[in-house]
Amino acid sequence: MKICLFGGTFDPPHLGHLILAQTIYEAEHFDQIVFVPAYKSPHKDRSAVSSVDLRKKMVKIAIKENPNFVMSEIEIDRGGVSYSIDTIIDYKKKTGTDSKKLFYLIGSDSLKTFHSWRNSEQILDECQIIVAIRPGFRPSDIDNKILAKIQFANIPRIEVSSTEIRRRWIEGKTIRYMVTQQIWEYINEHKLYL
Ligand code: ATP
Repeated sequence: MKICLFGGTFDPPHLGHLILAQTIYEAEHFDQIVFVPAYKSPHKDRSAVSSVDLRKKMVKIAIKENPNFVMSEIEIDRGGVSYSIDTIIDYKKKTGTDSKKLFYLIGSDSLKTFHSWRNSEQILDECQIIVAIRPGFRPSDIDNKILAKIQFANIPRIEVSSTEIRRRWIEGKTIRYMVTQQIWEYINEHKLYL
């Protein structure tokens, strides 16, 4: 099986995530894209993040109609700060996936800080990093040693982020077409982000 792990906070999951995952699935001939909601992202201010139960439920809803998308609760079950290196090693142990068949998908905004991720060099040995280019990305911002070991993917540029969606929701603006209808309903019903 050729697997792509897709970690994120998913607060909420949006069409940018889904289109990215679907594009990569097709272009790279993956067997599965595994969405991995973070328990506690090392990169985000925790007080501002929705509960893990809400985020998990939203990921489930967002991917449920796509048989090629699955969710792993590996970071939720492990608890603590969700370091990608631990997730990659745990996932390989649990599933027996080989380093050559295991990919880890990130947006190019995350790549900028990749050098500061825990055990970033080991991550590059344990799996293949695949980077989706987002606007504003300049390869010159990235260390050559990292550039040599990663793969870039061309994806349609859908400039929507969870931050923008939360902001618009708070301001009473529409988030139509940024999230699926079912996610819209979930946010509305659970009075998220207010
Ligand atoms: P936030 O705005 O809260 O930081 P986000 O929209 O960036 O959230 P995350 O859940 O943090 O979403 O993202 C998970 C991964 O998806 C990250 O690697 C991020 O770069 C990537 N990503 C998010 N939105 C897009 C998008 N529109 N296009 C491409 N990649 C994206």
